[in-house]
Amino acid sequence: MKIAKVIVDVPASAIDQTFDYEIPERYRHVLTPGMRVIVPFGPRKIMGFVVKITAESSFKKLKPISEVLDLVPVLTEELLDLGKWLAHQTLSLSITALQVMLPQVLKSKYKKEIVRAADGALAHELEDLFAGRDAIPFELFEESTLSYYQLKKAVEAGDLAIEYIVESKITKKFETMIRPKQEIHLLEEAIAELPKTAKKQHAILDYLIENPEEISQKVLLSKFQTSNNTIKTLVEKNLLETYRKEVFRNPYDDDSIIRTKPLELTEEQEQAIEPILKSIEQEEHEVFLVHGVTGSGKTEIYLQAIQEVIHKGKEAIVLVPEISLTPQMVNRFKGRFGKNVAVMHSALSAGEKFDEWRKIQRKEVQVVVGARSAIFSPFENLGIIIIDEEHETSYKQEDQPRYHARDVAIERGKNNHFPVVLGSATPTLESFARADKGVYKLATLNKRTNDKPMPEVITVDMRNELHAGNRTMFSRLLMDKIADCLAKGEQIVLLLNRRGYSTFIMCRDCGHVKECPHCDIALTYHKNNNRLKCHYCSYEEAVPTICPECNSDLIRYFGTGTQRVEEALTQLIPEARVLRMDVDTTRRKGAHEKILNQFAEKKADILLGTQMIAKGLDFENVTLVGVLTADSMLHLPDFRSSEKTFQLLTQVSGRAGRHDLKGEVIVQTYTPEHYSIQLASQYNFSEFYMKEMAMRRAFKYPPYFYLALITITHQNHVKVVQTAQQIVRMLQQKVHQPTVILGPTPSPIPRIKDRYRYQCVIKYKHEPDLRKYIQEINKRFAEEVRKNDLQIIVDMQPYHMM
Ligand code: ADP
Ligand code: ZN
Ligand code: ZN
Repeated sequence: MKIAKVIVDVPASAIDQTFDYEIPERYRHVLTPGMRVIVPFGPRKIMGFVVKITAESSFKKLKPISEVLDLVPVLTEELLDLGKWLAHQTLSLSITALQVMLPQVLKSKYKKEIVRAADGALAHELEDLFAGRDAIPFELFEESTLSYYQLKKAVEAGDLAIEYIVESKITKKFETMIRPKQEIHLLEEAIAELPKTAKKQHAILDYLIENPEEISQKVLLSKFQTSNNTIKTLVEKNLLETYRKEVFRNPYDDDSIIRTKPLELTEEQEQAIEPILKSIEQEEHEVFLVHGVTGSGKTEIYLQAIQEVIHKGKEAIVLVPEISLTPQMVNRFKGRFGKNVAVMHSALSAGEKFDEWRKIQRKEVQVVVGARSAIFSPFENLGIIIIDEEHETSYKQEDQPRYHARDVAIERGKNNHFPVVLGSATPTLESFARADKGVYKLATLNKRTNDKPMPEVITVDMRNELHAGNRTMFSRLLMDKIADCLAKGEQIVLLLNRRGYSTFIMCRDCGHVKECPHCDIALTYHKNNNRLKCHYCSYEEAVPTICPECNSDLIRYFGTGTQRVEEALTQLIPEARVLRMDVDTTRRKGAHEKILNQFAEKKADILLGTQMIAKGLDFENVTLVGVLTADSMLHLPDFRSSEKTFQLLTQVSGRAGRHDLKGEVIVQTYTPEHYSIQLASQYNFSEFYMKEMAMRRAFKYPPYFYLALITITHQNHVKVVQTAQQIVRMLQQKVHQPTVILGPTPSPIPRIKDRYRYQCVIKYKHEPDLRKYIQEINKRFAEEVRKNDLQIIVDMQPYHMM
């Protein structure tokens, strides 16, 4: 077995295949599929993934592998297969599909070092190589005559570890630890012999007699407000010992988490969990849709299902939308499973994410809670995957490979015989339709566990407000209710449904709107630095004082950005303390959490924010939820706009009155008669489902039809139009009834970063060779893509039609 089949890191369709390389003698007992290697490719040396090792090649003269990057595979056999499926499914390159499964640290070129464990014994040769050091650069090993096999053995035995140097400032991986070196009674004797003045030494020994476990030097020093010297003295007296220990960067403070026990399930919960447990037990793949309002106990079901999986010695992945991955949420899992949980959150630094990933790789945890990419966790013995809030669009990746985590979950579940559980208060029509047809198993939770009713929703017709002379963005009813709340010392959540709105600059005289010079979209006004910014490229400029079109100085900003609402609010109710949460106030790491904590500690009366406040928050003192503009996304060019509106309204209503206090929801709208607003205010999912399904059927949209979106971009407008037309023609010759091809039409944003954009949409029911047709298109234009900067973007499951 001396030939490796390698997928190389060249992102070009002409290269999308494996290449054979010879495995040099020194790597032969080491190299396995899933490891990364450096191989010669043309004049360059590039990275590649070993996907297979074979004895023979149909090629005669093979080049040898230059370097082996990993001693432990970074991709499991299962993930290698999954990569193949993923590439096919999303029509992306194999290399892209493999890269997406790895943490950032492994995607870039980082320096490596070999680090020895605290008390690991090493073979002589290795000992010599280290020459007393704790860590050595990897190159040193490579230049030596030592074998990879030897190194691999030491790594496997836990005596050595390969570390990636991420960024020196965050790679603080080792900590000096302290522990008693003598038995307790000897320490006690030592205390007796200490001079009276050695108070600190005395105190430290006392402490260690009481707590004879290891403790970090840093913690100990700060505990006793003393210096290194005190420790040094005690070490010299042979009473304590110090050693270095690898510490995982842990962004969550595990020790402060209160451990919880499984709750006794309600009857509804029992009924929901029973078939899931059965599927775990029998190792049969099944997809479950748990449909239950917020507070109906879905999470408790997840926890107990995972408990069973752990009990069987298996592993669990829990996906939670990025924005709901709050400490509150994480603590529910850590509270139940303690240190057995890894957390994959995009707010973690690259190093932190890598640490969490490695806990999975090293089998130190059985549960991972994370956002979308956690779906690729390298577990080898999965027993369940849970996707909470399955309707969230953030589960769809909008870059190549354009995958949906739900599909990946189901593929892994199918291949490895375990259940996938989807949970939501407002499932997607696609999922609910599948449950309706019996493809998924449906479990419904109708009641909140505390039997509290869902809060009452009152819709306010904003047109009447205008007629009555109220020109503010707050209805009279909402103002009254806010005043009531404030008087009672209760809290308020206000949602500005901003998608589709932004604050832009318009000239009052001529109506000129300032647009980005590179993208066909209005620039967004940022008040804090008085600048205009483009949200699609990095362009920004100062706000003009006179209109560039007509020289008028009547330039005003429009739209209802959160900043403006905040201003208006503080003008109307100066005594209210308002916290604003939107992309601008939460950009910094930890900001999100800080705002929520302030609100929880009642340091503010009103939490005002965009979509991000609608999810997962649970504050006892919130009794009023106001939705300022319920219909702002109803009219977007998106066939899911009714569904998204329904979801958002239902979600945000769930924020009020979750505990002892009764809640109320005020929904302000210009279209109170719209079915998604009416039915959301009645919490009537099934009626909404029927109405919306009828629409989808009439307009040939999912779940009746599948969609594929092809977007063509180029700097030259004519080129884009021509290519798009050619593509549509090619497709039209291939597809069958009842497939419909729409377009080509300009994309909803017709130009981004100076590139023109056209699109066509394929709606189909059954087109088994569609991927082949699209690959033919890709081939037909491959030359122009490579040489002429043409872009053809294919999305086999579009969520944003932009
Ligand atoms: P969901 O995930 O559907 O929003 P949760 O699982 O968070 O619901 O449950 C809502 C609240 O009810 C939580 O505070 C939870 O601890 C509590 N709860 C869940 N199940 C039970 C139960 N069987 N008995 C008592 N309380 C429960
Ligand atoms: Zn003007
Ligand atoms: Zn721009």
